[in-house]
Amino acid sequence: MILQAAGLSFFFNHKIQVMNQSEAKVLTLVYELRESSAEGELIEVVSKDNPVEFLFGTGHLVQKFENNVMNLSKNEKFEFVIVAEEAYGPVNQEAVVNLPKETFLIEGKLAEDLLVQGNMINMQDQSGNPLRGKVVAIGEETVKMDFNHPLAGVDLHFKGEVLGSRPATREEVDHGHVHSGNDHHH
Ligand SMILES: [Zn+2]
Repeated sequence: MILQAAGLSFFFNHKIQVMNQSEAKVLTLVYELRESSAEGELIEVVSKDNPVEFLFGTGHLVQKFENNVMNLSKNEKFEFVIVAEEAYGPVNQEAVVNLPKETFLIEGKLAEDLLVQGNMINMQDQSGNPLRGKVVAIGEETVKMDFNHPLAGVDLHFKGEVLGSRPATREEVDHGHVHSGNDHHH
């Protein structure tokens, strides 16, 4: 569901870089992501039952993550921390906004089922950029939404292993995503 929210593009950062295609590669990884340290709260587990393939060298991932694993080979293990400033950034108070309740009208009716504290809502700004926001509070006339990335302000501790490494194909680099298995989609 897409709701229109005006004036929200101000905190958008676009990272643009030239890609060196010869360096692009696909790594198959498993990892545990925890908050701050090896003992921190578990955020995400990618296990050997369902490893992920990442396309590196295209600027789609957090740069520090790329730098830390990009040159590893098959069966190499890794463990590192990316501080919040180099991951999803600090929490930006400007990304916490009060939106008029009319923003949440769908076909003229208030989308009450969406307006639940803690709920994540897919929205877009006036340029059509997708935004995902969390409902912080619901007031009389406005709804306080937090458009910070869920991992903003969080130091990321990664521990994992490289299961495979291969050069990316020309097509993968052009498309900006991995082509493999049955889940190739565009
Ligand atoms: Zn493709």
